[in-house]
Amino acid sequence: MPTETFEFQVEARQLLQLMIHSIYSNKDVFLRELVSNASDALDKLRLEALRDDTLGADVSDLHIEILPDPEARTLTVRDNGIGMSHEEVVRLIGTIANSGTAAFLKELREAGDGATAEGLIGQFGVGFYAGFMVAEEITLLTRRAGEERGTRWTSTGEGTYTIESVDGADAPQGTSVTLRLKPEDAEDRLYDYTSPWKIREIVKRYSDFITWPIRMTPQAPAPAGNDPEDGPGPGGEPGDGSGTADGEAPEAGAVPEPEVLNSMKALWARPRSEVSDDEYHELYKHISHDWKNPLETIRLQAEGTFEYQALLFIPSQAPRDLFQQGHKRGVQLYVKRVFIMDDCEALLPSYLRFVKGVVDAQDLSLNVSREILQQDRQIQLMHRRLAKKVLSTVKEMLTGAPERYASFWQEFGRVLKEGLLGDFENRDAILGVCSFATTHDAEQPTTLAQYVERMGEDQEHIYYLTGESRQAVENSPHMEAFRERGIEVLLLTDPVDEVWVDTVPEFDGKQLRSVAKGDVDLGAGDGDGKESGEDREKRREEYAALLAWMSEHLADQVKEVRLSSRLTVSPACVVSDAGDVTPALQNMYRAMGQ
Ligand code: ADP
Ligand code: MG
Repeated sequence: MPTETFEFQVEARQLLQLMIHSIYSNKDVFLRELVSNASDALDKLRLEALRDDTLGADVSDLHIEILPDPEARTLTVRDNGIGMSHEEVVRLIGTIANSGTAAFLKELREAGDGATAEGLIGQFGVGFYAGFMVAEEITLLTRRAGEERGTRWTSTGEGTYTIESVDGADAPQGTSVTLRLKPEDAEDRLYDYTSPWKIREIVKRYSDFITWPIRMTPQAPAPAGNDPEDGPGPGGEPGDGSGTADGEAPEAGAVPEPEVLNSMKALWARPRSEVSDDEYHELYKHISHDWKNPLETIRLQAEGTFEYQALLFIPSQAPRDLFQQGHKRGVQLYVKRVFIMDDCEALLPSYLRFVKGVVDAQDLSLNVSREILQQDRQIQLMHRRLAKKVLSTVKEMLTGAPERYASFWQEFGRVLKEGLLGDFENRDAILGVCSFATTHDAEQPTTLAQYVERMGEDQEHIYYLTGESRQAVENSPHMEAFRERGIEVLLLTDPVDEVWVDTVPEFDGKQLRSVAKGDVDLGAGDGDGKESGEDREKRREEYAALLAWMSEHLADQVKEVRLSSRLTVSPACVVSDAGDVTPALQNMYRAMGQ
């Protein structure tokens, strides 16, 4: 088959331009991305082979190989994992399917300057394309497990790429990615990506926990003298004895022994004191494909009859598609250190779908399916325990690290509030970590506990008003009497607020009351008794004729017209009965077709 030339999709081209001109200062991460992809490919193959015994794949020695060639100035990362079909190469490598990346590019176009671009790359990550930060050309050779023919993809990242079909004999199962390193970096020790010690260091730093062996086969040793690479390298023998073949220079002329660079130790199984924050963060990045550090790391070790370990992360930023259907959840399930599935929805409730991480259970079958998981009692217990643990971590942030909590709430508050609708068991815990905009402070949101703390002696209820925006809510005539009397009102403007307020009866013994519903009796119940019963009676008589006239003319529109003490400036306002749905909720139901 001839070599075909394709054009990169527009978005891909823009991204590649950024990579080629390398606006991201930490180029080393390209290797992390390639290793991460290789590791995913090995996970996928293992699973597919387990499910399909006709696959005909070789799974006897799954591993990742790094092959530096200082002479040719190339670096190859190879795996014998699942590989890609011809169609997959075009779809996965030539276009940008990831919605996050598309959003990234949009922001980038709008921002325009380099500093922002770097920040944005750090947020979104660019995966495979990161290779173009260090390479002037990339060749990817791949054969999907079970398929006869392979595919070679080559590009300099400038607009086009070529694809050609290759004989199976020339394309081993899996994928190899060869970078022809940029000549301009040749003299720079910082970018010496064919140096074994540099590679050791990068792998150790970013990919140590990868569960597959990452082997490096250095080029045949220099013909004479000592191995020049054994000098300054920090990577050779880490203190924990990672069981790697170490840096002994092989005899001249001997075939170089591959060296295993990573310890392959599951971070979640190691004691907290032995693992650095950086190591946790790198695991997070591998799992989440995020380039930023997580906001919070959560560890949980359950012992006893159903043993499991969990390592969960709260990202520092919400993904763009958090509220879209089909959003992937980020918790991976392992069984006894073996990866079983991504995106395991049985492990956490949907309102915690932003949490990423790993759960490793000791006593599940390797063949466990999603359906079985949903029904498994042990998994249900685990689900409850993990949910509580995440909520208690948020609580700790709230009390111990208010700024971190504030940024958490900004990103994930809207999702978390969904839990108020369905998770009755944790409702109080969720309410306890919610915060809301309030008339008390124009900038700082308040928790319900803080609201209750500020309540006046004879204020009985917690007041709120829902609406579309803070401004709309604040300008509502319903607010007038409350403003006048200095009573704090919560300003609830997320769509989900409309719904949960009706299902949550109280907090700390105080009812939640909408200021737009029913006859808010500020006079008697809440106290300042501006108007005595007598005065009110008198006013009612005074206005009787007007009220009767209005009632008659508005009979089709309203249930009742009555005198109110809630207004100070506006002449009239429409209120709902206490049990009615609010206008905004009516709109929402209508939108949902009900
Ligand atoms: P991401 O890993 O976040 O999906 P990448 O740009 O790193 O994004 O990779 C894009 C896709 O290309 C991967 O999702 C995967 O399907 C495919 N891919 C990349 N590298 C490999 C590999 N070594 N083996 C098999 N598939 C790969
Ligand atoms: Mg990737």
